[in-house]
Amino acid sequence: MSDKFDVIVIGAGPAGYVAAIRAAQLGLKTAVVDAFVGKDGKAALGGTCLNVGCIPSKALLDSSKQFHNLTHNFKDHGITAENPQIDIGTFIGRKDKIVKQFTGGVTMLFKANKVTSFFGKGKLLKGNEVEVTGNDGTVSKISATNVILASGSVPIELPFAKFDGTHIIDNAGALDLTAVPKRMGVIGAGVIGLELGSVWKRLGADVTVLEALPKFLAVADQDIAKMAAREFAKQGLDIKVNAKVTSAEVKGDEVHIGYTDKDGAAQSLVVDKLLVAVGRRAYTAGLLADDTGVKLDERGRIVVDEHNHTGVDGVWAIGDAVRGPMLAHKGSEEGVMVAELIAGKPGHVNLDTVPWVIYTEPEIAWVGKTEEQLKEEGIPYKTGAFPFAANGRAVAMNEGIGQVKMIAHAETDRILGVHMVGPVVSELIHECVVAMEFKGSSEDLARIVHAHPALSEVVHEAALSVDKRAIHKGN
Ligand code: FAD
Ligand code: NAD
Repeated sequence: MSDKFDVIVIGAGPAGYVAAIRAAQLGLKTAVVDAFVGKDGKAALGGTCLNVGCIPSKALLDSSKQFHNLTHNFKDHGITAENPQIDIGTFIGRKDKIVKQFTGGVTMLFKANKVTSFFGKGKLLKGNEVEVTGNDGTVSKISATNVILASGSVPIELPFAKFDGTHIIDNAGALDLTAVPKRMGVIGAGVIGLELGSVWKRLGADVTVLEALPKFLAVADQDIAKMAAREFAKQGLDIKVNAKVTSAEVKGDEVHIGYTDKDGAAQSLVVDKLLVAVGRRAYTAGLLADDTGVKLDERGRIVVDEHNHTGVDGVWAIGDAVRGPMLAHKGSEEGVMVAELIAGKPGHVNLDTVPWVIYTEPEIAWVGKTEEQLKEEGIPYKTGAFPFAANGRAVAMNEGIGQVKMIAHAETDRILGVHMVGPVVSELIHECVVAMEFKGSSEDLARIVHAHPALSEVVHEAALSVDKRAIHKGN
């Protein structure tokens, strides 16, 4: 007889571990099966996000920003240092410590909430049984009334640039380099390419980013994308759009890359490290027995309804393994919703107000629709914008770069999207998420008192600017 639980979660990333904790809080007997093995060869909870994603990348972004400020920006404050150096061992070691602190934190939370952990690969069998192949090779079976699939995603590999872990690397490789490469190539000017490309650029690498699409950051509002592109160019990030990579060959200690430019002309690039960051795909290898009835879509994602139910009795799926943005907070909220639905409570996730943040310098953040999307959908809108250059706090911080752009419905004034590039916009965006979630208008934000001097005054002025009444700029 197999051990019986109320809920089994397969995958302990931010979607799965949050679902498990919420289920346990609601009094459900909960188990988690997770296969992730950390750098030290030991099981590590937290999935991609805590081990090789959100948290380690932010640790390296922060350290590299400090170094960049010391070498480039502190002199404006009258602060100088002779011959500043960075020790890569300490730089990576600090990141590893943070990762351990947070993955260990999930272990502690599981203990505190009485969530049972199984370390190994979980496979859903018919009838909500789960076969667990432990990291030590032992096979056992557990079962539950409800199973939540939270198996996450893995990097997409290009057939002509296969990961070798040394010269052609993925996100995990780029988070663990032992020295600053002299020349780094990045395929894909998406979120990972920009964040990890920035890390190594700030430490002195020559970074060239090759993007296949003709537009830079096509998913973002193009006013914001253009402003960000200008800043990245000033920092020396060489971003080539319309660059279609055709080959990547390791020769000795170099990678020789072939690509075509916007005119279709053949070009070449030689680098020491090549980061391939062309997107991620849902990971479902070995997750489902043939007869479970769980369906995958044309992109290999687990098919779910708006409540993340798979259509198979008691089987749910959340996070990167299903449709919607591949973001940690989106997966976590789906996890909470599913746990609450299982416990008989109401639950809902509004995918239209999931914020996006790119942690470059300046940061980029947005929520809701872009101007391009609204045009395409024929929705009438009005916009307002305000620059950080006119904000006292931003200028005092030496970070008067970028802007907040707000888009509201032309007739109802309801906020449809807010797009930002500038200092700490990763935090500023949330005021707009709340406003949108409460179906607020630009007038609502315009009438709310904002502290002075504060970066959030830029949001306030952008809201005023929708109605052409910003105070600190011409309208
Ligand atoms: P994952 O985090 O991928 O976790 C899935 C877990 O399931 C893994 O531990 C995996 O080993 C395990 N698993 C898979 N199959 C099985 C199985 N059959 N049996 C047992 N275990 C299994 N998102 C943000 O919101 N903000 C960021 O700043 C951010 N930065 C990122 C930076 C990088 C470099 C990368 C790569 C990603 C980043 N992301 C960020 C995306 C974020 O990491 C993902 O959206 C998030 O981790 C998805 O969570 P998840 O729980 O669905 O899956
Ligand atoms: P991405 O989808 O953000 O960007 C991939 C880029 O590669 C796109 O611009 C695409 O046009 C380009 N591309 C695709 N194929 C190409 C090719 N053959 N040659 C050149 N360019 C090509 O993917 P990513 O950067 O790998 O990140 C994956 C996902 O991880 C993100 O979409 C996001 O969901 C998540 N993530 C989030 C954060 C964050 O929230 N700050 C950080 C990192 C990753």
